[in-house]
Amino acid sequence: MQTLTLRCTLKPTPEQAAALEETVRLFAEGCNHALRVAKERGEFRRFKLHRLVYNDLRSMGLSANLAVQAIARVGRKKGSRAKFYQPTSATFDQRTLSLRGESVSLTTTAGRLIVPMKLGNYQRGVLKRARSVQGGVLTRGPKGKWYINLILRVETPEPPSGGGKVVGVDLGQKVLATLSSGVRFSGGPLRGKRLHYLRKRAEVRSKLDRPSERTKGVKRLWERLRGREARFVNHTLHALTRRILDGLEPGDTIAIEDLAHLRSRTTKRGREARHLHHLWPYARFRSLLEYKAALKGVRVVAVDPRHTSQECPRCGHTEQGNRRSQALFRCTACGFQHNADWVAAHNIARRAGSMGMGRCKPARILRVSSLHRFPLESPRL
Ligand SMILES: [Zn+2]
Repeated sequence: MQTLTLRCTLKPTPEQAAALEETVRLFAEGCNHALRVAKERGEFRRFKLHRLVYNDLRSMGLSANLAVQAIARVGRKKGSRAKFYQPTSATFDQRTLSLRGESVSLTTTAGRLIVPMKLGNYQRGVLKRARSVQGGVLTRGPKGKWYINLILRVETPEPPSGGGKVVGVDLGQKVLATLSSGVRFSGGPLRGKRLHYLRKRAEVRSKLDRPSERTKGVKRLWERLRGREARFVNHTLHALTRRILDGLEPGDTIAIEDLAHLRSRTTKRGREARHLHHLWPYARFRSLLEYKAALKGVRVVAVDPRHTSQECPRCGHTEQGNRRSQALFRCTACGFQHNADWVAAHNIARRAGSMGMGRCKPARILRVSSLHRFPLESPRL
């Protein structure tokens, strides 16, 4: 069993949307009240905070369950850092959220609502495997769209412990992904198309900015472009994650870079990674990979990505100068040289191996059906 989050778009009627609106507004008001009290009293422990504000929240009109969730949001270490809660989301638990076929049932401030969801094949597939729903987070997007992030318990095979191989994945721009097992997936189509859409959107945006050209047709074109790009990226990510998993067996491990760690860093790799963030939907990639891996009994480990492209796999010497160019790695200490992306993927795999996730045997070429695939000889170290 594994807990997964599944994001679904909601299709509320106008009356339902108004009720959702009122619910997130009240929820945020409750959170802000709890935060104020917590700060005044210097008390962020959940149970103490509960005693201080629960009755206030109930009299504001929040249901018992929503009040408990609002306190839970504030009563954490996280809460002490929050300054203010925006009225854009609310948390539901098992008693206030349940599934009814392709609709979700939510207990809001206006009572029980059955809101239809817009599901794709991927969502249907996950829901079919779900054993139970633990709750979910209702959010309103910037364009006024409503989403529900369902928290699901999904039946997954238990990965056998130890012994499996570890495959490192280096994410990039020109080459979408390089595996330490010697497989590369070209980034050409994804990068090219995203840049194409970026330019197209800039064009349309400049029209939107000028009131005289802001016609209905232009607005519709904008929406159409967004949709087309999203579908294309989605398709690519599904194909890529499937290909990465081809050839792996239960008990194997996939190692990826933990890019979430990088945001505050200013290393060269950090800047690169931030740029990567721009064209690389990393979070979506990671959640798809984790989901598909879990169903297969394959582990996913995220490792510290610092200097993965600068460390010599043969002698361990780490220096910026080891990376001769975008494509070439040559160690200034021992002279080892190879494809730079492969070196990064190898280091990522090795780091996961040293985390005690089984032995690391990266130098193995997998046979994978092709998604713009370039096999790469694994070198002798
Ligand atoms: Zn070396």
